[in-house]
Amino acid sequence: MNDCIFCKIVNKQIPAYFVYENDNIVAFLDINPVNPGHTLVVPKEHHIDLLETPDEVLSDMLTRTKKIAAAVIKAVKADGFNVGINTKPAAGQVIFHTHLHIIPRFSTDGLKHWPSKKLERPEMDKVREAVKKLL
Ligand code: 5GP
Ligand code: ZN
Repeated sequence: MNDCIFCKIVNKQIPAYFVYENDNIVAFLDINPVNPGHTLVVPKEHHIDLLETPDEVLSDMLTRTKKIAAAVIKAVKADGFNVGINTKPAAGQVIFHTHLHIIPRFSTDGLKHWPSKKLERPEMDKVREAVKKLL
C-alpha cells in the first residue's frame, strides 16, 4: 500500500521510535501519546482493520503485546495499561492499517473511563438475540 503511513513506517521510509521488531510485527511509540510509553503494535502486512486481519496475525500481535506491554509499563513506571484496537471511523480509527494501542496508565493521570448507559431488559434481550443469531 503506497499511501499507507504505517506501511511506510514498517518499510523504514519514514522514521519512528521503534521499540520492537520481529519477522511479522513492529512496535513503535505513538507520535501523539495519551501518556508516556503509548505504543502501537503493528503487523508488517497491510490489513485495513481488525476484522480484515488473519487470525494468525492477530494471535501473534496479542502474544507479543503481552511481552511489550510488560516492558513498557516497567520502563515508564506505570500503574497499569489499556489495550485497544479502534475499528472503523465511528470508533475513532484514523489509520487504516491494523494496529493495537498499549496505553500506560497512572493512578494520577486523571483519565476517565467511558460513560455508561443503563439499558432496559427488553433492549438487552433484543441485542443478545441478534448477536447470538450471527455467531
Ligand atoms: P487510531 O485512531 O487509528 O486507532 O490511531 C492511530 C494512532 O496513530 C494515533 O494515536 C496517532 O497518534 C498515531 N499516529 C498517526 N500517525 C503517526 C505517525 O506518523 N507516527 C506514529 N508513531 N504514530 C502515528
Ligand atoms: Zn499499511
